[in-house]
Amino acid sequence: MTDMTGKKMLVVGAHPGDVLWRCSGAVAKHVKLGGTVEVIVVTYGTGGEANELFKAGYTIETAKEQRFKDFGKAMDILGVSHWEIWDMQDYQFEITRDKVYKLAEYIRRCRPDLILTHHEKDILNPDHGTIFPYVVMSLETATGHGIFIGDTKPAERAPIFCFEPHASEVNGFNPNLFVDITDVIETKKAAMATFELKAPLAESYVRRAQYRAQNAGSFGRQGCKYAEAYEHIYPIAQDGFFVY
Ligand SMILES: [Zn+2]
Repeated sequence: MTDMTGKKMLVVGAHPGDVLWRCSGAVAKHVKLGGTVEVIVVTYGTGGEANELFKAGYTIETAKEQRFKDFGKAMDILGVSHWEIWDMQDYQFEITRDKVYKLAEYIRRCRPDLILTHHEKDILNPDHGTIFPYVVMSLETATGHGIFIGDTKPAERAPIFCFEPHASEVNGFNPNLFVDITDVIETKKAAMATFELKAPLAESYVRRAQYRAQNAGSFGRQGCKYAEAYEHIYPIAQDGFFVY
């Protein structure tokens, strides 16, 4: 197993639930291996991810409060060292210069060794697909020596790994990295359980983790019972990152 001591993972999600269903196993694993994880969620996901709350009578404000509370519990369970929800507009997310500078500044202060975010296409969640170029643009802005943002210094380019959309095939998601999360599956289940009204979806992601473990086994991973799938866009050029 790779020692991740001193290595920092940054997760950028469109909506709080994305972090729990799509990559919380990798988050828990990174922490277990000694690394640190910071999480930025760009919106509260009230436009669609919180439908169950609105059906139960919540308002926008009380839904945000509930999501903030539940997500905080999940972040504690996962051992995330710092997290923020930025309260931008979901589902019609637009990339603007101000938003790019905000994330670029965060990247310069955080200085991540690897970044997890959305795949470039998701027709069921159009803002997932917009978050990918947003992260790429912000990362490249963060590395620019001629771009001055407050007192920050340019960051190094970190590899980006895309987590799985809800309907992989229709979005052209081609997993080329499986992360074995067998030893942290209970942590992932506990984190997903903080969104109580999303229990059926959480169960589907446990089943998907079993399916992805079968894929991982086909490609030689021994003893894997649960896995998460990723597509790495950046060629792997460094030792040890994320391939545990
Ligand atoms: Zn989402």
